[in-house]
Amino acid sequence: MKSGIHPDYQPTTIRCACGAVYETGSTKKDIRVEICSNCHPFYTGKQKLVDTSGRVDKFNKKFGLQ
Ligand SMILES: [Zn+2]
Repeated sequence: MKSGIHPDYQPTTIRCACGAVYETGSTKKDIRVEICSNCHPFYTGKQKLVDTSGRVDKFNKKFGLQ
């Protein structure tokens, strides 16, 4: 193991434009982001995936798979 070649890894606060704050660790001290998991469209789209899985459950029940 060599020491001193790794950048400092430290507690970091990530702040999003929507107001969400995340505690994490990074080699960067403070991080500001325009978008995060709280407001990213991808996670809004994820709701559709939840609905889809609900339909799968109904499908499985309908055909006696559960
Ligand atoms: Zn956000």
